[in-house]
Amino acid sequence: MQNAEEEVVAAKTVTITLDGAEVSGHPGMTILELADELGIEIPRLCYDPHLSAWGACRICLVEDETSGKLVASCVTPISDGMIITTRSKRVLDHRRTMVELMLASHPDSCIVCDKGNRCRLREIAADLGIGSSSLKRIPSYHPVVDLNPFIQRDLSKCIRCGRCIRADKEIAVVGAIDYAGRGFDARPATLLDVPLERTDCTFCGTCVSVCPTGALLERGRVSTVTAPHATRTVCGLCGVGCAVVIEHDEDVVLGVRPVETDGTVNHVALCAKGHYGLDFVRSGNRLTTPLLRRKEGFVPVGWDEALAVVVGEFTAIKRNRGGRSLGALGASTCTNEENYLLQKLVRAGFGCNNIDSGARLRTSSLMLGIQRVLGVCAMTNPIAHIREALDILVVGADPLTEHPIVGNTIKQAVKLRGARLILVDPVSQGLDAFSALRLNPVPGSYPMFLAGLVREVIRGKEVRVDDQSHRAQWLRYLRRFVEPFTPRRVEEETGVPSNLVVLAARHLRDSRRLAVIPGSGISCHSGAYQSGVLLAAIVLVTGNIWKPGCGLFPLAASLNDQGCMDMGSCPDRLPGYQALTDISARIRFEKTWGTTIPSDPGCDYLSMLEAILREEIAGLYVVGENHVMDGPDAATISNALTRLKFLVVQDRFMTETARLAHVLLPSAAFVEKEGTWTNIERRVQQLSQALKPVADARPDWEILTDMLHRMGLRCAYRTPWDVLCEINETVPLYRGITREHLSKEDVFWPCTDPEEPGTPIVYAFVPPMDPQDLLREMEWPAPRRPSDDYPFWLITRESLFLSKDRAATANSPTMKKASRDRPVVHMHPADAGQAGIREGSSVLLTSATGTIECNIGFSEEIPRGIIQASNTASQLFSRLCALPDRDSVSGTPFIGMIGVRVEVRDVLR
Ligand code: SF4
Repeated sequence: MQNAEEEVVAAKTVTITLDGAEVSGHPGMTILELADELGIEIPRLCYDPHLSAWGACRICLVEDETSGKLVASCVTPISDGMIITTRSKRVLDHRRTMVELMLASHPDSCIVCDKGNRCRLREIAADLGIGSSSLKRIPSYHPVVDLNPFIQRDLSKCIRCGRCIRADKEIAVVGAIDYAGRGFDARPATLLDVPLERTDCTFCGTCVSVCPTGALLERGRVSTVTAPHATRTVCGLCGVGCAVVIEHDEDVVLGVRPVETDGTVNHVALCAKGHYGLDFVRSGNRLTTPLLRRKEGFVPVGWDEALAVVVGEFTAIKRNRGGRSLGALGASTCTNEENYLLQKLVRAGFGCNNIDSGARLRTSSLMLGIQRVLGVCAMTNPIAHIREALDILVVGADPLTEHPIVGNTIKQAVKLRGARLILVDPVSQGLDAFSALRLNPVPGSYPMFLAGLVREVIRGKEVRVDDQSHRAQWLRYLRRFVEPFTPRRVEEETGVPSNLVVLAARHLRDSRRLAVIPGSGISCHSGAYQSGVLLAAIVLVTGNIWKPGCGLFPLAASLNDQGCMDMGSCPDRLPGYQALTDISARIRFEKTWGTTIPSDPGCDYLSMLEAILREEIAGLYVVGENHVMDGPDAATISNALTRLKFLVVQDRFMTETARLAHVLLPSAAFVEKEGTWTNIERRVQQLSQALKPVADARPDWEILTDMLHRMGLRCAYRTPWDVLCEINETVPLYRGITREHLSKEDVFWPCTDPEEPGTPIVYAFVPPMDPQDLLREMEWPAPRRPSDDYPFWLITRESLFLSKDRAATANSPTMKKASRDRPVVHMHPADAGQAGIREGSSVLLTSATGTIECNIGFSEEIPRGIIQASNTASQLFSRLCALPDRDSVSGTPFIGMIGVRVEVRDVLR
């Protein structure tokens, strides 16, 4: 909100004469910004609208006729009465001199430079009519350096614009590089010239994106020619959904860059996965044709034969054993339209509600708690609002690896805008260095810690007797609920010193703009539901909801989990979170589909597996996910899938799950298809097709439409946009999210009118639960203690170079180079000493369900009793989780916190 003084300033305008015309801007605006706003082109090299202005290159010089000076327009604010000329002879002469000086030390190798026609220096030189420099050449010999798997550096092309250094400091907020040397020797470098791998660089490639010349380029680009096509689409490798431009020819991705416009979630940034990981698309491991399992193994067949078998088998099982003996697991790697079609196939074709997805494992407990308090099952505000927050509470989240753009935003808020970060996590992580307060509750004690925190937050918050608002009701009932959780008790049970609980609460209590960010460290642990309730209560009772610069930002979902859930991949919800028991909603779908749909809930993820083991489900359709690898308890899942009478897997790769299939259907990757994609902030974006699907692979929507036809269901979809039209009709949340609307802007749901802009800030779009009922029913999770057999808690973390779409990054040659094959786990040296383990030993990590072999590293930062592990492409620690170890409310397993023992296997020599 603006105060009165700010409003007066905002209302004032400054008038100048720009190239002969009288124009106005607002105070503080630079000449360049005003010119940009008016569409007057001033060339620039060091200026980037996403970075602070440096005024270093002097290309944007303009003439101020009032003072007679040449000024750098990117750093000169407008002032009343200025008379500015952007293209006077004097200005052009100076620009030419500056460009010629740069070209004098620049190699004449444009014809083979990867930057091609995107080189800003060449472009500006050409506009000024400069072919090559008339000045004496200034030798600038620097070898081309392949710095790491990602970046190639050619300092002979560096023009010292400092964009890479500012991007590193202001966008990635890492500080890995700065200027070294002086004069002609000045160059961007790491401290003491150590390799980037030995700095905190995350290889996000933002420095490459902002480099105006070919000084920084993607290493391993498959072609040095300028890409003939550039397609704007969405990166589908995590839940952020960055807007990207894919540079490509007919067949291959040649490069990826951010879209670089302000309306996107990522502006000018990407992460390493999005920037360099899309080479998985042309991996030689792609499935290229449908495969049928025969005695001799998989044999390739045509689509017609494969789909005839699939439809024939599903129909036979339905006829002989009933529709409830079928089910499907979709599809966080698929578009909204594809998820919509999959649940339609299950509900209208199979005749049951046995539909779920991997999103349940990642999100459901936490989101259920949040939804019951706030009436929202997603982020309440756009990610960009975190940047405006004054206080940020991150609980059990590791944004820098799982949602890197969110991680950057938090760092920007802290480092560049002075926000206070309170970090709550049993183990250390990348945000530690940015935190003002760091609290380490013991694993499994989040609900207890949060109850104690809420108790202190609401102390002294008065409620008027006649105040019947949702917030007031929560304050009344919460007070009673959290009363027993005194700071002393919290200290005893969580290990967090009582004074720090009180201090954290004091910061939160009075915060005017508080962002609360829980993550997978909560959602996959015990008590996730209770934690969700308490975190939502914090934003509600402190008044940090339904306004900019604050809110709740759960980071549990990944890929298109949000769209998958929105589109009804749930056994008890129709698309748009409409309850199966909502008769009018059911009738709407029945009318549209021309068939009846069952009203009783189906099996969720785990109950589907249990029903398979009991032989109640005989046929399963798995789309785009690898449950044997990604799910809990790999052995049990594998056993269940093997017992199926008929398993169909539709995927891009021969995954561990695909190997068990009776029929394998090759599907398109996200850059090979169209549709819509919904990110974790409820932002719906248009996915565009850059490449043709490899060989005979087909987009999932096309395969599903074919199957719906063959099952005799009504479906007149010629493109995914026809499916979106149906979604507009049947799903109120998405009614206004039409293709035409998306072609103009990203849209946040709910959006019920195509003429309206959508709802970036949301609260209570479904009725929240009555706090008295909710708190009365809320069971307290049983404390989980390590057992004698499994005395350590294994806490898992993601790797920066691995997507939750494991199959994608595991098949990306670049990501494989960057990530480890063999997992390394870390433990406290004192724990290791007691177990007779030496650093570097090869160890066996054993849980109640299995064993993983890994190498051991030591870290004094890891609390005693904890082993910390990072997933690798080939080894996920969730496979050690036991299925019965699950949340009592949502039924999801605790894949982030597993009891293990560690034994020496071998000592490395
Ligand atoms: Fe953005 Fe996520 Fe893709 Fe990285 S993986 S570029 S953060 S969408």
